[in-house]
Amino acid sequence: MNENHEALCECIDQYLDDELDQTARTEFERHLNVCPDCQAYLEAYNHLLQTLDQCARGVTLPDDVDLKIRHEILRELGQSQHPSQIMDIEELARFLAMPVPEIVKLLDQLPSFELGGRIRFRRDRIIAWLEERERKMSWERDQANFQTKQKLIRFPGGQ
Ligand SMILES: [Zn+2]
Repeated sequence: MNENHEALCECIDQYLDDELDQTARTEFERHLNVCPDCQAYLEAYNHLLQTLDQCARGVTLPDDVDLKIRHEILRELGQSQHPSQIMDIEELARFLAMPVPEIVKLLDQLPSFELGGRIRFRRDRIIAWLEERERKMSWERDQANFQTKQKLIRFPGGQ
């Protein structure tokens, strides 16, 4: 197999994810017609997707399934999950990978609302809040760096 052939085999993930442009896609499809490896990969992939489709989630994949294919399938499943927009505190704790008592400490900062006497969180608001926090923290870090640099400028030679 020449290098070009192998390079085309490498494209299969992008092909399956529909990430190739028109030219690359056509080129890959031409390659697919003549490449038994890619044909087998595609067939196994499609077969597994169908199986998973029928079984929905919670499926255990057979052990002999190629690791690369497993990876693709799991990614596919991850993308097809539609997490609910509204979370309760347990769901938020899972979402943020933090214990509930830690979330409780943050309650006055977290964007939340009350519904029927229970506290609820909107996923998009939480994400926006996280992004804001991230921005602020990196800004504070930049400030600290800046101050360190200023000191270095003011006291050359490190007094
Ligand atoms: Zn190939």
